[in-house]
Amino acid sequence: MIKKAKEILGVATLEDISTLILQSHDLDETLNNIVSLVAKRMGTEVCSIYLLDPDGETLRLRATKGLSRRAVGKVTLKIGEGLTGLAVQEKHAVAIQDPENHPRYRYFKETREERFHSFLGIPLFDRDLPVGVVVLQTKDRRLFSAEEISALSTIAFQVASIVVNARLLDSIREKEEESKRFAQELARTRQNLLDRDKPQDSVGEAAMRGRVAYPGVVSGMPHILDESLGFADFLDEQKGNIEAEHQCLNDALEETRIQTLFLQKRVAERLSEDDAAIFHTHLMILEDRTVLENIRALIEQEHSAAYSLKKVFSDYIAAFARMEDPYLRERAADMEDIGRRLLSNLTGQGENVFELKTEGILVARQILPSDMATLDHEKILGIVTEAGEQNSHAVIMAKSLGIPAIVDVKGAAKNVKPDDFLILDANSGCLYINPPQHVIEEYRRLEEDSSRELNRLEEFRDLPAETGDGIRVNLRANIGLISDVDVAKRNGAQGVGLYRTEFPYMTRSNFPDRATQYELYSRVVDGFSGQPVTIRTLDIGGDKALPYFSPPTEGNPFMGWRSVRVSLDNRDIFRTQIEAILMAGLHGPVKLLFPMISSLDEISACKAVIKEAQSNLFRENIPFAKHVPIGVMIEVPAAVTLAEEFAQQVDFFNLGTNDLIQYMLAADRNNPLVQKYYDPLHPAILQVLNHVSKVAIKYRKGFCLCGEMAADPLCFLVLFGMGYRDFSMPAPYIPRLKALMRDITFPTAQRVARKVLTMKDSASIRSYLVEVLKTLENVS
Ligand code: PEP
Ligand code: MG
Repeated sequence: MIKKAKEILGVATLEDISTLILQSHDLDETLNNIVSLVAKRMGTEVCSIYLLDPDGETLRLRATKGLSRRAVGKVTLKIGEGLTGLAVQEKHAVAIQDPENHPRYRYFKETREERFHSFLGIPLFDRDLPVGVVVLQTKDRRLFSAEEISALSTIAFQVASIVVNARLLDSIREKEEESKRFAQELARTRQNLLDRDKPQDSVGEAAMRGRVAYPGVVSGMPHILDESLGFADFLDEQKGNIEAEHQCLNDALEETRIQTLFLQKRVAERLSEDDAAIFHTHLMILEDRTVLENIRALIEQEHSAAYSLKKVFSDYIAAFARMEDPYLRERAADMEDIGRRLLSNLTGQGENVFELKTEGILVARQILPSDMATLDHEKILGIVTEAGEQNSHAVIMAKSLGIPAIVDVKGAAKNVKPDDFLILDANSGCLYINPPQHVIEEYRRLEEDSSRELNRLEEFRDLPAETGDGIRVNLRANIGLISDVDVAKRNGAQGVGLYRTEFPYMTRSNFPDRATQYELYSRVVDGFSGQPVTIRTLDIGGDKALPYFSPPTEGNPFMGWRSVRVSLDNRDIFRTQIEAILMAGLHGPVKLLFPMISSLDEISACKAVIKEAQSNLFRENIPFAKHVPIGVMIEVPAAVTLAEEFAQQVDFFNLGTNDLIQYMLAADRNNPLVQKYYDPLHPAILQVLNHVSKVAIKYRKGFCLCGEMAADPLCFLVLFGMGYRDFSMPAPYIPRLKALMRDITFPTAQRVARKVLTMKDSASIRSYLVEVLKTLENVS
């Protein structure tokens, strides 16, 4: 018996659609899942999908539930042919009892459809373009009711969206294959571009400056991201028919939901689940009752759906953009991203951003997560944005992919024209537009040098990190997102010296539960098969906020309620995280690290939470690692003073010089105005690092330097001379350091360290170290 339309409409639930999309690997699988689901929901014996071939004229049976499977791919009809073709020709539903008696009926023996005596065909359209037909058939001799036709039309609308998106995904996959095959050809094209004669104008005028988000040098033509549907453009208000506008909004919401699910799937496949988590937030925005009620209220006042959408989203974007907290400020970009896609679906103007025909440098006012998800990564040589956020999700994704990027380039999107030739120097933060020939020559030489250098460094990847006199050092990776695991391994990292767990917390819309955290942490530990992974508990606050955890407004957040202080005040969250870490400890050598410790009381309090976590797991009969080493970050001055006492309470120290420098020298690590005061080679910093190493050696405790200074060759030389043997850094720096180490011996480094510890100012220390390194390189 055919089901009632109200029941049938349950198919429109997000869960069903999500399952369909997320569970299928390609278009055919998606179609098979759809026909089974629709037949079940509609209670019919047959559901089939015919799709239009690329010739735009032939409808081909692509999936069926109920007809003979052998007919799939074989049965074809022209538009207008048979009852199925009639539905496309007429652009509306065709519902017929006893179809075999209809003059337009065509019988295909492969289908064995003579058993079915009712027919309902609904055409699938993507905007005005036909996509195919969905057909229902039953054994009963009956006429489909208006209610059923309307239910199937709703489903057909979703099916069309799914098909369009799945096709897009398939074609992107094909293009990715293709672009790999033609990689060499494209490299040659790029070389030809470099050889092109360019107008001679002054470098000074043409160079634009920005801040480095990910280093590297690339050159090529620009891809200027089209934002014609951006919220910056004001839409004209039109009075609309209230009911029709509500319907348009609902259709656009549905289409955007499906699109977003596809984006989520693509990013999860290409990068990681963590990177894809942002699209979950987008889905939640689409479901947010207040947002939707506000839009609907404006439509009720006879505003068009587009205007209402634009108004509500703009207000949210403006509110987020005004927020003081940098993380929350960046959420304006999420609102804009999802809003832009919704608006584009509403107004029927798709953003055709998939079509990057050649490699190029992406130039945009800002790049949104969905842009990063939909563009062909292989074709993006570099990224330039006017927006200045270095921690935006899109930039984090670019870093994971190793794409050179600079941000905060004022006026870039306006000044760069489509046929300009660009050199992006993301080492120094410069963008050259049509530079003169001598600059092109210079960069060509640099590019050659750097690719030679990369080839040379490649050799070091799998070699041990060893000095000229055979002393082994551990070079580990600082990681945050799961995609960093691959980058770390590619660069030969010996495990993880610092896993910043706040990053996976940041990309979610709620605190991850214990099972989710366990899954995540154990994936990281498994990824390093047997090498140590130091997992640091949540270090939020300062410049790192969580979207779902609003901290109090503080005058001085870096000195405020952050890091372990937040954890200790939220014991359940803290204990849950520790439980997940202890559980992951069964997958490999995990170490547990507490950030921003400033007193012995805090160490005792953390240990008490570990005890609670152990008893909980024990009580629940959940296996966990019993002997996980416990360490503390040495990153506030008090920890330096109390290092001896701390050493008697913990197994290891991680020296967090990023914070230690800012707290010791009273120079905000993110404030460009005081950048010159923020100096790793300041004599006070070197004294303190020397002191901590001595304490750790005296008490036979591990000590790892995990601040950014570990990657600086000058600092490395001094630290090695002081006795440091464990370093953790962004992984791409590891091969370079391995190469440098070959030129260093311990006696030389020790002599250098002793000398700089007697020096009184950082300028002389720096120039002395530069000279030493030069001589070492010349000697080798
Ligand atoms: C540090 O402070 O040096 C450190 C490594 O931690 P973060 O940069 O996450 O504060
Ligand atoms: Mg820190």
